[in-house]
Amino acid sequence: MITSFHIPASLEEARKLMNDGYIVIAGGTQINNGARLAADPAWVAGDQRLVSLQALGLTGIRRGDDGRALVIGAMTSLQDMADHQEVPAALKDAAGFIPTRNVRNQATLGGNIAARRSDSYVIPALIALEARLAAIAPDGGRKEIPVEDYLEDPADCLITEIVIPVPEVPCVAVKESRSQLALPVVSAAVALHPAGVTGGFRAVLAAGCVAKQSVRLPEVEAMLSGPEPPARADIEAAVAASVAPRSDTLGSAEYKRHVNAVRIADAVLAVFESAGASDGKR
Ligand SMILES: Cc1cc2nc3c(=O)[nH]c(=O)nc-3n(C[C@H](O)[C@H](O)[C@H](O)COP(=O)(O)OP(=O)(O)OC[C@H]3O[C@@H](n4cnc5c(N)ncnc54)[C@H](O)[C@@H]3O)c2cc1C
Repeated sequence: MITSFHIPASLEEARKLMNDGYIVIAGGTQINNGARLAADPAWVAGDQRLVSLQALGLTGIRRGDDGRALVIGAMTSLQDMADHQEVPAALKDAAGFIPTRNVRNQATLGGNIAARRSDSYVIPALIALEARLAAIAPDGGRKEIPVEDYLEDPADCLITEIVIPVPEVPCVAVKESRSQLALPVVSAAVALHPAGVTGGFRAVLAAGCVAKQSVRLPEVEAMLSGPEPPARADIEAAVAASVAPRSDTLGSAEYKRHVNAVRIADAVLAVFESAGASDGKR
């Protein structure tokens, strides 16, 4: 039962309440989702005390101080993100993969990251884009951490903003689910970052749905450093060898491995095409 609900007027107050054991509520889609409550010990332990982030001005999308980075407030809804012109297309696509507009209106980007779901659509795109989180640690210190590191250890951080350093890099996100509303078996994204003076690319490829959390596939990334993509069969084989999904009600491990290989190869070929690197040899 919710016994206490605070709407603090400052980040410092929110941080203090978190330190006192209050649970953050952002859009509330995950917190209020009955299926999830049973899985979260903090919810079944008895009294629940909530701290809402709604009055802290954490919404909005702007350019960073360098004029280049895109900075998205943690309380920005996934729908507002999907509708914003300057948000990278892959991230807009990923937000739009959540099939219900009502959920997208309510769900926030910060909440999606903090929920650390393996089947998050936006997390792989954020990892591929090398996004970083601006956050407040329990000791009140401000820090900026890569999304990947936060997934490993959230350290009870309060996420305030999401920073995408170079929003223009070519990036493609893909999903696969058995129906529009079903949970996905594929949620992945790949981006091609410039490799510097050597030319070519530095690929960053992240996949959800194949491990407890979204993970990078370094062996596949290593294949993608040249100006041309490898052959589809080689990409599919490398992905299949890199992922170890588990069988569950969504499908067998074998099916998931196959469909991840095919859809991630789609994403790789598409991102090379959008980078203008394809010459039609595939
Ligand atoms: C019908 C339905 C369908 C859904 N479909 C999908 C889907 O297809 N894909 C998907 O990825 N998700 C899906 N979700 C899950 C959920 O909507 C998303 O994860 C959503 O983005 C969570 O955001 P929220 O603002 O609602 O988070 P909340 O429910 O408010 O919070 C989620 C978690 O994050 C913590 N938190 C929130 N904000 C912060 C912050 N700024 N700093 C630190 N911690 C924070 C909270 O304490 C909580 O543990 C679905 C949910 C529903 C109800």
